[in-house]
Amino acid sequence: MAIERTFSIIKPDAVAKNHIGAIYNRFETAGLKIVAAKMLHLTKEQAEGFYAEHSERGFFGALVAFMTSGPIMVQVLEGENAVLAHREILGATNPAQAAPGTIRADFAQSIDENAAHGSDSLASAEREIAYFFSAEELCPRTR
Ligand code: UDP
Repeated sequence: MAIERTFSIIKPDAVAKNHIGAIYNRFETAGLKIVAAKMLHLTKEQAEGFYAEHSERGFFGALVAFMTSGPIMVQVLEGENAVLAHREILGATNPAQAAPGTIRADFAQSIDENAAHGSDSLASAEREIAYFFSAEELCPRTR
């Protein structure tokens, strides 16, 4: 099994509802280790850049407004097949379609305010980690 790193955001809705610890617990219970983490309040430019691939979609303006509406937690998770393992505990984009027991099923209200983000591929993970973290901020879990 490959040890991978993936990128996670706890979005403004879940931070506002004090769900940071509960969501971190889901990561750790799934065997994912947090190797970097910080709280940020995104600027409009940061949110637009992060979601640039969606810039032509109808929901883009609302997505940027939501992602800048309050602080977020960004973190890098490490573990076996971390990209897929994280997407599985995250659940479907629309919480109404997310499997029971997933983060979005339990903490999200709607497809627009869906509690958390997870990289969808290793290539996305590398790009997204580098968007928010310098190499020096990543802390290998050696013990
Ligand atoms: N989104 C939205 N409305 C939609 C589809 C997506 O607001 O109809 C937002 C939602 O926050 C989602 C993000 O855009 O998490 C990125 O969409 P994507 O399809 O990449 O889903 P994800 O990878 O986050 O599950």
